[in-house]
Amino acid sequence: MRIDVVSIFPEYLAALDLSLIGKARQDGVLDVRVHDLRSFTTDRHRTVDDTPYGGGAGMVMKAEPWAQALEAVLAEAPAAPRRPTLVVPSPAGAVFDQAMAHEFADLDHLVFACGRYEGIDERAIDWARAGFDVRPVSLGDYVLNGGEVAVLAMVEAVGRLIPGVVGNPESLVEESHADGLLEYPVYTKPSSWRDRDVPEVLLSGNHARIAQWRRLEQFHRTADRRPDLLAAVDTTALTKAELKALREAGFDVVDGRLTRTTH
Ligand code: SAM
Repeated sequence: MRIDVVSIFPEYLAALDLSLIGKARQDGVLDVRVHDLRSFTTDRHRTVDDTPYGGGAGMVMKAEPWAQALEAVLAEAPAAPRRPTLVVPSPAGAVFDQAMAHEFADLDHLVFACGRYEGIDERAIDWARAGFDVRPVSLGDYVLNGGEVAVLAMVEAVGRLIPGVVGNPESLVEESHADGLLEYPVYTKPSSWRDRDVPEVLLSGNHARIAQWRRLEQFHRTADRRPDLLAAVDTTALTKAELKALREAGFDVVDGRLTRTTH
């Protein structure tokens, strides 16, 4: 996969040299290129921002450096059946989630436009629609100072879904959000630590019991921490055995929704 990131703080993206993403770049699985928006300016001060039309606080990123930068990215884009997707991090975008990470992981070429200040002149984003599939994407319902942190999060979430990036693909299967639920709690050695013991079932060697315990822990944890996700469980997809185990653990299906009836 090819990834281009345009930012006024290219150094911010140095973290993409580390860990699994860094290794995937070295191995040629990910081709990540970071561009300095200021190198696409033409004035002595390398200006990328100006005051907002209509007044108000803050500055707005000028359209022309963005158009120049994105044209350069397009000119160097590898031949691919689909045009590149331009992800514009913004608190006013659709919220990034695991489903979107999977969607992006299937693409050949992702381009990220890191905004700063009050954001990018909207005309640049409109203009980009001629050459890119444009996706305004939010990391969550809060405001960051710039798009770089959002890009680091998205590249990591997308990158780890690309075959060859995570050593053991099995580890992607049993993770939080893989099946709409949160992951069960995990433990490692020693089995007893500061008066706290690992749940006995995990030491039993009985794989069926362990699997059932983990599954029920997923439901309990999701009910505790993310009741919105529990309510979204497709109850028609639950097997009879699962429903029986869930009822014994204090859950039931009420008006078509999985609900915890007792604690
Ligand atoms: N004035 C903008 C608004 O209220 O929608 C916020 C601008 S913010 C200070 C500057 C930049 O940070 C944005 O252009 C965007 O690139 C990035 N940013 C801020 N919050 C974000 C979020 N929740 N998700 C993704 N990017 C974000």
